Amino acid sequence: MKSLFSILLLLLISCACESKKELKQELKKEIIAEKIPEPKEDTIWIAAVGDVVPGSDFDRIALPPDEGRTLFTDLVPYISKPNLAFANFEGVITGCKCPSRACKDKKYCYRFQIPEYCVDRIKEAGFDFLNIACNHLEDFNAAGRTFTLNKLIEMGLEPAGTFDRPCTVFERDGIKYGFCAFAEFYGCVGLRDSVKLLKVLRETVAKSDIMIVSLHGGAEGPKYRQVTKEDEVFLEHNRGNMYSTAHLCIDNGADLIIGTGPHVVRALELYKDRMIMYSLGNFCTYGPFGHHEYTRHSPLMQVAINKKGEFLEARAVPTKQIDRGIPRYDSSGLAIKHLKELTKLDFPKGALKIDDDGKISKN
Ligand SMILES: [Zn+2]
Repeated sequence: MKSLFSILLLLLISCACESKKELKQELKKEIIAEKIPEPKEDTIWIAAVGDVVPGSDFDRIALPPDEGRTLFTDLVPYISKPNLAFANFEGVITGCKCPSRACKDKKYCYRFQIPEYCVDRIKEAGFDFLNIACNHLEDFNAAGRTFTLNKLIEMGLEPAGTFDRPCTVFERDGIKYGFCAFAEFYGCVGLRDSVKLLKVLRETVAKSDIMIVSLHGGAEGPKYRQVTKEDEVFLEHNRGNMYSTAHLCIDNGADLIIGTGPHVVRALELYKDRMIMYSLGNFCTYGPFGHHEYTRHSPLMQVAINKKGEFLEARAVPTKQIDRGIPRYDSSGLAIKHLKELTKLDFPKGALKIDDDGKISKN
């Protein structure tokens, strides 16, 4: 009798737990539904996140559990529902059997080799176009760069950012999107090479309806959260001026600028009715990274533009990396707080208003 009572009690407890779990899931769905914009005919929604290194099987090996199947889960609707989604792919894909680049100092040397199954997860989550112009593009020399570019194309993604392919044009729902990616690193078109940059940018603008530019630059880490409006030198290397390059690109036909590279969030700016996101921080950097307050939390941006490329509104969905680098919805909203503080600090007379819930509108 006593054991029967125990079983009944256990059943009651487990039922209560189940319903609580369901309720929690329902609530979560509601939050998500409220945050995901409904596509409208005259509006283009573009999602964008910062650095994505979902795992590396080289040097400081770190691979996500279950081949990365739990990497993006609750964030998938935010990524897949907008018309397009961007990520900064920071590394080389495993499999080219290319020699790795030499390290000057092992302490500061990071070489990323990302397994193909991690790229599958990126594609499955709904990302469409990727920046590959970055300081890790040459981790396995020129052969690794070419291998990665070709592999991403073969897997149905739209990469840009190598010296041979700084730009691409692709079509979605009858709209031609131009996409250029620049970074002041070997194998890429640099921010300081304005002749080449403008040449390829103008050629791409002429072929597209909407022009998106990715800039990878700036110094790295929590000490470098502000837009300096100057050239930034980091590890003895001049990485260019993110501010003047972003403005130059808009002056020459760009409609949206997505900045990455500093591993921390930086301000937002509206220039000539076009949105500039100076740095989106780390979104999914799995492995041996310093997951500091400023490098752990980042916004998943959703930007609405019209068919002329003019800014309409945006939303910053707060995310945070848990465990060794798995991104999740972050109810603390810290990434929104950071964006708000930095935007006010760097562009005090700016045209953007950021609400506490992440809604961004014109002032
Ligand atoms: Zn980088």
